[in-house]
Amino acid sequence: MQIIRDIATLHRAVAALKQGGKSVALVPTMGALHDGHIALVREARRWADHVVVSIFVNPKQFGPNEDLDAYPRQEEADAARLFAEAVEILWAPPVEAMYPAGHATTVSVSGLVDVLCGAARPGHFDGVATIVAKLFNQVAPDIALFGQKDWQQLAVIRRMALDLDFALDIVGVPTVREADGLAMSSRNAYLSAEQRAAAAALPAAMRQAALTIAAGATADEALADARAAILAAGFDSIDYLDLRDEAALAPLDQAAAGARLFVAARIGKTRLIDNWPVVA
Ligand code: AMP
Repeated sequence: MQIIRDIATLHRAVAALKQGGKSVALVPTMGALHDGHIALVREARRWADHVVVSIFVNPKQFGPNEDLDAYPRQEEADAARLFAEAVEILWAPPVEAMYPAGHATTVSVSGLVDVLCGAARPGHFDGVATIVAKLFNQVAPDIALFGQKDWQQLAVIRRMALDLDFALDIVGVPTVREADGLAMSSRNAYLSAEQRAAAAALPAAMRQAALTIAAGATADEALADARAAILAAGFDSIDYLDLRDEAALAPLDQAAAGARLFVAARIGKTRLIDNWPVVA
């Protein structure tokens, strides 16, 4: 596995991988890798001859009062895991390589970014769309893989790729969960033992609400119970808990094809997100 930190070397290495018409998959991450990330890498291997993983904690997708400085960084351990997966290239540029002095261009997807996490984190998805567009141009992969855990991110990236004519396939990989249902996330490392135990209430409440809605309850009824359960378990606040259409992200008030629950909730200083299908 080559660990690459500058764009010229990346271009040469990717060109070498592509020789003979070989395909390349890209898995963008912010590091602090867990089994959810590794599921993306393994899925990438099924689709392409070679796998490039990027690790870049992207300052542009963090708000002024968010956890950019505290975000877990453990590149050596991450590199060891990727080496074990036989990843060909780890692209881990410093901030100056991604955003050289004078960088002035932002990719902004409208509509989809105004709701859910976009409402609570203004500018977040502009940061995501900009960095993913740059990664797509840098690596020019045949396929890129993203987790369904960040459902809205996946929707924004699909829209961006379509609108800007990126000629690649985008694959959404199902959420990998801990044994108690909590979606794996680098941010779970922030949780104390007590908070970690309480956090399982989030998927449990969504699972219950999804069943209740599928059985005919309105979103208002089911989500009031789910909110109460999440707060009773020890969460401090809920940014949103919504039933929405999984493609357009428009609100729904009852079960429908493509209905999905979306949640963001805070426990201590940690903000956790998740989503869950409603199978009617
Ligand atoms: P991150 O490093 O958190 O930016 O995540 C990098 C990629 O891994 C994104 O496409 C995430 O959606 C995906 N990912 C993160 N957690 C999970 C998980 N538990 N299951 C599946 N994919 C995940």
